[in-house]
Amino acid sequence: MKIRALNKRLQKLDKKYLWHPFTQMTEWQQGNPLIITEGRGSYLKDILGKWYIDGVSSLWVSVHGHRKREIDEAIKDQVNRISHSTLLGLTHSPAVELAEMIVKEVPKGLTRVFYSDNGSTAVEVGLKMAYQYWQHKGKKNKVSFLSFRNGYHGDTIGAVSVGGIDIFHKIFSPLLFQSYQAPSPYCYRCELNRTYSSCRLYCLKVTEGILKKHHKKIAGLIIEPLVQGAGGMITSPPGFLKGIRRLCSKYDVLLIADEVATGFGRTGRMFACEHENVSPDILCLAKGMTGGYLPLAATVTAEKIYKAFLGTYKDLKTFFHGHTYTGNQLACAAAIANLNIFKKERTILKTQRRIALLNKEVQTMSGFQHIGDIRQRGVMIGIELVRDKRNRAPYPLEDRIGWRVCARALEKGLIIRPLGDVVVLMPPLSISRQEIKSLVRITAEAIQEVTESE
Ligand code: PLP
Repeated sequence: MKIRALNKRLQKLDKKYLWHPFTQMTEWQQGNPLIITEGRGSYLKDILGKWYIDGVSSLWVSVHGHRKREIDEAIKDQVNRISHSTLLGLTHSPAVELAEMIVKEVPKGLTRVFYSDNGSTAVEVGLKMAYQYWQHKGKKNKVSFLSFRNGYHGDTIGAVSVGGIDIFHKIFSPLLFQSYQAPSPYCYRCELNRTYSSCRLYCLKVTEGILKKHHKKIAGLIIEPLVQGAGGMITSPPGFLKGIRRLCSKYDVLLIADEVATGFGRTGRMFACEHENVSPDILCLAKGMTGGYLPLAATVTAEKIYKAFLGTYKDLKTFFHGHTYTGNQLACAAAIANLNIFKKERTILKTQRRIALLNKEVQTMSGFQHIGDIRQRGVMIGIELVRDKRNRAPYPLEDRIGWRVCARALEKGLIIRPLGDVVVLMPPLSISRQEIKSLVRITAEAIQEVTESE
């Protein structure tokens, strides 16, 4: 079949059979979906042979780029041995070796690795562990959680219960368990009407107020350290994370750090918690863990949490949770290769220059008429578009301004995905200088063409 005919056929079948995530399918039916057939480094190729920069790392997962030789080979090697056996009642070398590597890499005090398959499950596991921990400790009233407005922790019901993005989460509210909500550290649109830095982190004070009043009922506080990703790349002010750690210790609440998005180098350190020298009680990892190859997640806990679950069989203190593909060999092999590359190529060190260049390039857009705020932490960037820069007035929802910018970028050879009115850039850590320049140039052109043609 000729390639154009194949393209048409796949598009037709896609529209007939698939239901895409986070997608209004009415709109999808009217478009012509791009069919990806190949990837290399920072690029993706479509079925017709056109190459695009992968500007959001295939939804924040690709770390060293596509077709990274070492990861390709590690997976092939593993396929030649075995692709999957269970961790229920058995164990295997990739899971064990990876667990040791993870414990050596994560902030001090985290000693036990519980595998699952994706970011949402890593969070579900963390929430359930925190709750059950307090049950075993005899603090039976600690049954709820504290989370942040604009927070995002995944789409399963527990993760949604601690989510704070109304347009995604509100409809499910009758299904959710109770969670207290603290203000988002969103300085550009401070919900407490303060200005950074004269506010002296007033949001921390408000958070303390909630903890003071309700800590006897709160098992854990869940936070995306440094960057609220899906909420719009909201970067928290310096000292916020450290302050949260202090409050959790003071009020005897477990700190659950959701580093699903920020982990594995995205913020310029291996884990975002390192920037403020914070050790959480529970750490959730996924996305970049396999370098963007296979679904794998881990919930890493402090020893005191693990120990609270020990007992005899009849004590029923077991953590009754597990997924079929938990600790899958292929995924673990990819994750081991991913971590080895970090060491061999000194990825974190090399990323610093790329972060600096990205910063220099994106700042050239700061004078644009419709850019209200540019936020960056490492290679995580959010460009907030506003209708009126003087009063920060947002665009009406129906303008779909973020989407239109990304559609224009696609025509120009760049794949990006917005979060509402925030244009997101999150390239692989391996992106080259030239690619950074193209990434930002296309983004700038797309923003100008769409916003200034209004
Ligand atoms: N936690 C955070 C901080 C995330 O950004 C995401 C996904 O974007 C998740 C959890 C959920 O991960 P997954 O989509 O793999 O379930």
